[in-house]
Amino acid sequence: MAGRAGVGKWAERQERAREVTKALAEAYPIAECALRHETPFQLLAATILSAQCTDERVNLVTPALFARFPTAEALARAPLAEVETLVQSTGFFRAKAKNLVGMAQRVVTEFGGELPRTVAELVTLPGVGRKTANVLLGTAYGIPSGVVVDTHVGRIARLLGLTGQTDAVQVERELGALLPAEEWIQFSHRLIHHGRAICIAGRPKCGGCPLRECCARVGLPPLDATGEPVRKPKSAKALKAAAAKQVARRRAQRKGAQRKSVQRQDGQSKTATLSSHAETAPARRLPKGGKSARKKSSGGGDALNVGSPAVDLAESRKRPGRPAKSSAKTKGTAAIPSRRGRKA
Ligand code: SF4
Repeated sequence: MAGRAGVGKWAERQERAREVTKALAEAYPIAECALRHETPFQLLAATILSAQCTDERVNLVTPALFARFPTAEALARAPLAEVETLVQSTGFFRAKAKNLVGMAQRVVTEFGGELPRTVAELVTLPGVGRKTANVLLGTAYGIPSGVVVDTHVGRIARLLGLTGQTDAVQVERELGALLPAEEWIQFSHRLIHHGRAICIAGRPKCGGCPLRECCARVGLPPLDATGEPVRKPKSAKALKAAAAKQVARRRAQRKGAQRKSVQRQDGQSKTATLSSHAETAPARRLPKGGKSARKKSSGGGDALNVGSPAVDLAESRKRPGRPAKSSAKTKGTAAIPSRRGRKA
């Protein structure tokens, strides 16, 4: 088989596959399927539910589902709405519930209630593809029908340099050709555990990885002496752009701080104005009826100073001898003349 970019020649890949298999067996001597189940049928149902969902989430849902519908016969007769409710939190619950009930009905009607034991027959069941069929046959019956290729297996197999394929079926075919059949079942389980613990998507912990010696790390930066990825030195252009960005960010921060300070000062001066007004001007009673009524009563003038008897009285006291300006025009209010004004 011809070599692919980044993964080397076929003989190199075979050698690497042997080393990876050995290192995986040492790192994960016991690797089992994470989906909880008691029967092959329950494993199949749980694997259908695990599409686009974590095993942990599926394990939260299946106890209630299997308590209510433990067998193919029971699930085949299940009301769809009830199954939907039970599997709702796994996402795509309508399609999954339909597949579960459809799968159970087909197992009962086509296979007499027993699960078939070939990939070709299993993939005729609703919701069952090659990956699910391989999981069931390998885990429940110990039949090495193929390497289980889920997102972890495909991704890590490419990083390791075992395959350059992105299509799951092609990855399964190439891994199946690289590994002996007796390794297929455990290889998948171990690689899935490795993907959860060490070779995490987007942030692989290469420094402490047990496969580091045999991993091609395709597409990843080289490691330094400490096992950390070597960071590329930035170009002069990139450095300049980063400096300009920093200056712009600081300027924006300064402007923001200035704006806040002005707002704070505004708030303080407004408070000061209001409090000084409160000290000099006696309290006034606003006319009933809200803003519109106030406007009416003030004749369109300054609502704080016009039309208020208390304010007029204060004005008249400030300027003895001069009667206070009457704002009697204002409906419902009357200016109170000063004592002198009344005498005159
Ligand atoms: S060395 Fe890094 S990329 Fe390779 S398997 Fe380990 S964690 Fe993944």
